[in-house]
Amino acid sequence: MIAIVMVSLCAAALYQSRQDALNHTRDTLRDISLIAQRDIERNFELYALSLQAVVEGLQQPDVMALPPRLRREVLFDRAASAKYLGSMLVLDEAGNIVIDSGSDRPRQGNFADRQYFIVQRDNPDAGLYISDPYQSRLRGGSPSIALTRRLSHPDGSFAGVVLLAVNLEYFHNLFSGLSLGPHGSMSLIGTDGVMVMRQPYDPRIIGRNIRGASTFQHFVSAQEGSFSETASIDGIRRLYWFQNFPHAPLILMVAAAEQDFYAAWWRRTLTIGSLMLVFGSVFVAVSMLLGVQLRRRMRAESELQLLARTDGLTGLNNRRSLGEILDQEWRRAKRTKSMMSLLFIDLDRFKAYNDTYGHQAGDDALAAVARCINGNIRRPTDTAARYGGEEFVVILPETPASGASEIAERIRNAICECGIEHAGSEYGRVTASIGTVSRVPQTDDDLTAVIRAADEALYNAKATGRNRVAKSQLS
Ligand code: GH3
Ligand code: MG
Ligand code: MG
Repeated sequence: MIAIVMVSLCAAALYQSRQDALNHTRDTLRDISLIAQRDIERNFELYALSLQAVVEGLQQPDVMALPPRLRREVLFDRAASAKYLGSMLVLDEAGNIVIDSGSDRPRQGNFADRQYFIVQRDNPDAGLYISDPYQSRLRGGSPSIALTRRLSHPDGSFAGVVLLAVNLEYFHNLFSGLSLGPHGSMSLIGTDGVMVMRQPYDPRIIGRNIRGASTFQHFVSAQEGSFSETASIDGIRRLYWFQNFPHAPLILMVAAAEQDFYAAWWRRTLTIGSLMLVFGSVFVAVSMLLGVQLRRRMRAESELQLLARTDGLTGLNNRRSLGEILDQEWRRAKRTKSMMSLLFIDLDRFKAYNDTYGHQAGDDALAAVARCINGNIRRPTDTAARYGGEEFVVILPETPASGASEIAERIRNAICECGIEHAGSEYGRVTASIGTVSRVPQTDDDLTAVIRAADEALYNAKATGRNRVAKSQLS
């Protein structure tokens, strides 16, 4: 039981620490997600302001009247030269580059086929548009996304777009600086399901639409949240944290693999678990061994106790035990005012028996006589004992004189009927004389007086011819 309680407590503690590891990981994922999201949002805010500045600048005739180099400096602030920014372009309604942040003479290019252009052309209310990833034609195919704003003629008709291209390397660098463990992952996904960036980086995944994936269903189900799922690609179970951007059509997802964040817990569980198993087994084994020893000892003790109370030759109570039982029954009889009887049994001419048949035969005869005595007392409270030598005592609690005489006669008869040859006896066989005494103990009565009375009765039996029962006059 103690081992089970110990193991249960240990298991509960380990389970709790597993929960702690999970909660801690969820907190870490949320923090990482928040850091990345803040960084992206802050940059996008600056990009949006830069775009807005270009849109406003283009509407001012005096800015447009400036020489190209000056106009470029006024339209595109220093932000346009920031790291990871590809280029800022102004396209006309046909999609051709008319102003280029990169050079005074705009590079050649038409982008009328680009989604960001089409959206702005066909939708006057598109506002700030964030495109899906594409491969830049001006910068040797480097993967980018574009932020665009519509340009309108005074009558509201389409005049082109202002475009700011952001190198995907920005996200790549941002993500790779955040630690998610060896099997962790982090993704930036458009709300339309298009993958913008993923860590670990794989160029084939960028631009892929994952709208159909089950994880994506979680992302669009709430503003933010977490869930656990086994990835179908690698079969690794991960804890996901996702967060929809409040001001952009983007979702950020961070995930940590259970095998990573449970690794320390697993090591601890293995160590503690195996130690617990060893200690538990040793504890149980030692307990069982102790139990066996204890039972053996108890058995030995009770055997010793029995030996200490029994006579070795006859198996009856010995003198010591007789003294105790006699005392006890005497007091009980005094208390209940009931009659108690005693039989004093002495074998006849036993000295002669020994002399004739030898001491060993005498012992055998004594054992046979003891069996006769024991076989003729019936009640569980009746006690037979060897008083010493060839003398026996029978205690009969709650037995009147008549009953005592009857039992004494039965015993005498049984011994006689045993038919143990005894040449030195006038009866030719082993016989016994029995003195009986029966008494309801009075308050001033003494046990020794009763014993003496029984002894006297026995003497009378001897004196009147042996092999008979004599009753004490005391009762
Ligand atoms: P009585 O009829 O008057 O009783 O004659 P008795 O010879 O039996 O006299 P008593 O009772 O005094 O005899 C005791 C004898 O019993 C002495 C001894 O030879 C024998 N005896 C006593 N204890 C043992 C014993 O443990 N084993 C054997 N074999 N004999 C014993
Ligand atoms: Mg004797
Ligand atoms: Mg005798």
